[in-house]
Amino acid sequence: MTYDYIIIGAGASGLLLANAMGKDSFFAERSILLLDKDLDKPNDRTWCFWEKGKGEFDAILHKTWDHILVADGSYSKRMAIDPYKYKMIRAKDFYNTSRTAINGCPNITFLKGKVVGIEERDNQIIVSTDSLTFVGKKVFNSIFDYKPLLQQKKYPVLQQHFIGWFIKSASPIFDSEQATFMDFSIPQIGNTRFMYVLPLSETEALVEYTLFSKNLLSTQEYEEAISNYIKNNLACHHYEILDREKGNIPMSCYDFNIHNSKHLMHIGVAGGWAKPSSGFTFMRTHQKTMALIPFLKENRPLNTFHKKDRFWFYDLLLLDILSRDNSKGRLIFGQLFKNRSPQKIFAFLDEKSTIWQDLSIILACPKKEFIRAFLRRLFLI
Ligand SMILES: Cc1cc2nc3c(=O)[nH]c(=O)nc-3n(C[C@H](O)[C@H](O)[C@H](O)COP(=O)(O)OP(=O)(O)OC[C@H]3O[C@@H](n4cnc5c(N)ncnc54)[C@H](O)[C@@H]3O)c2cc1C
Repeated sequence: MTYDYIIIGAGASGLLLANAMGKDSFFAERSILLLDKDLDKPNDRTWCFWEKGKGEFDAILHKTWDHILVADGSYSKRMAIDPYKYKMIRAKDFYNTSRTAINGCPNITFLKGKVVGIEERDNQIIVSTDSLTFVGKKVFNSIFDYKPLLQQKKYPVLQQHFIGWFIKSASPIFDSEQATFMDFSIPQIGNTRFMYVLPLSETEALVEYTLFSKNLLSTQEYEEAISNYIKNNLACHHYEILDREKGNIPMSCYDFNIHNSKHLMHIGVAGGWAKPSSGFTFMRTHQKTMALIPFLKENRPLNTFHKKDRFWFYDLLLLDILSRDNSKGRLIFGQLFKNRSPQKIFAFLDEKSTIWQDLSIILACPKKEFIRAFLRRLFLI
């Protein structure tokens, strides 16, 4: 069976793309196949992102915060983020609303199938599942494979890895207006380690132990750190664990585009759409999808969509520093949030700042580290 477009994976990027195509009349006469190995995905994650004012996902927001807190052991700073809000959506709500919308599009077929092969032949892409074979004129793949990243040496590869507990405390202990964005006041043990606390009410919160480092920890190590933090930092002794989430997101400036071709494009984490310096992916994937739609209408080769810019280079410098000395994260992020407003930092991370604003952000960080990293790359590239 031949389709104009095949989307592999109905996670964040696959659903965002299918939905965007479903809403646009240009694609109404074109056949779209969406494939996933699981049709009933559990509520397997929460997505958070900052956004100014109203946004596309407001109807399914689970919680929003007007303030963030950053701490590094020597200071603790609560900051208003107006006009931004930090927003949370639950995967379950996103999967349900996206699937309902897709079901209403007669040109989109959503099938269960574990993809076992993707092959380019005669300007078409052959997609094989464990039981069927499909032909796509254009194919978008969101299955992520770590191997090629780990097999190269040109770009450092870190991971943002974490385990989070959704807890309910016996008494009110949380400020439900404030998200603890990065709390570095915990033992760093040679890495970049911080706590991320998202209160849902005065008694409920997601408490997540997060690292930006090369290697994962054992489950016990993450969980001991969460338990210690709840006891020692939050002074909470009576609580229950309602749920858990875990994840690891690649942080790398690796050139994911080399795996794309005229007719095949990798999307989401698999396409390198996770911001290398922070792991934030959801909003970035939404923004890339919005840019991809007009691009598809022009029928241009899919491997010409990706562009490298100065933000890619800034991310590379940070990853170079953290990969050489993984303990530097507390100093860098600590100084950054101490010296600059969250609004300026968000604009920079959204890649919407001017070059002068970029410079002001970089100058707020330990300069020596960045100058050294810059010189190293200058002579290496
Ligand atoms: C627990 C967790 C929390 C996160 N929180 C945030 C956050 O707060 N903010 C943020 O910006 N980012 C966050 N991320 C990072 C990122 O936004 C998510 O990983 C996001 O889901 C990535 O989207 P994706 O489409 O690339 O991958 P996925 O959403 O993982 O989708 C891939 C899809 O492919 C399917 N699939 C895999 N293999 C096959 C196969 N062989 N055949 C068919 N289908 C297959 C899977 O079932 C899945 O549905 C988080 C990640 C995790 C894991």
